[in-house]
Amino acid sequence: MKVSVHTLGRRTGASMELVRTFDAPAHMGTEFLSVPEGSPMNAQLRIDAVSEGLFVSGDVTVQVRGLCVRCLEPLDGEYTATIEELFLLPEAVIRAVDEGDEDAQEMYTTDGEILDLEGPFRDAIVAEMPFQPLCSPDCKGLCPTCGIKLSEAEEGHSHDVIDPRFAMLAQLLEENEE
Ligand SMILES: [Zn+2]
Ligand SMILES: [Zn+2]
Repeated sequence: MKVSVHTLGRRTGASMELVRTFDAPAHMGTEFLSVPEGSPMNAQLRIDAVSEGLFVSGDVTVQVRGLCVRCLEPLDGEYTATIEELFLLPEAVIRAVDEGDEDAQEMYTTDGEILDLEGPFRDAIVAEMPFQPLCSPDCKGLCPTCGIKLSEAEEGHSHDVIDPRFAMLAQLLEENEE
């Protein structure tokens, strides 16, 4: 997800609009929700040249697929994540570290020619996704005994009958005690 920012050069104050569709890379998302590989990611960004590097702002819209963590119902939808990321020029990183800001080494960087948006997109999209997605906020999940979806079961669905294997075990224990 590299874009050329050559036209911006290193002219502080210059800016450019970037509207582009990227193919989603593999493994973007969380355990329960992810962006299908190769699906379109629609980005609408503005890139501003600032003294330390390039500031990227805007949003990216992605398709997501996954499962409800309670009832395992398949989910799909669309998420829009907000991007606000400063890419530092190498000399800005050196300057910041010299001034005692060790964290600057962890920031995204750019050589002023190419911007690689994958990292910031990934961070922003994962931050936007619910950690435990649900098919609906009041999903009741599955019956722990028979696995039926409780929202589709009859009112007051329950199991009074003890599993026959447990019933037999209980009887054996009782006999042992006697
Ligand atoms: Zn559910
Ligand atoms: Zn049940």
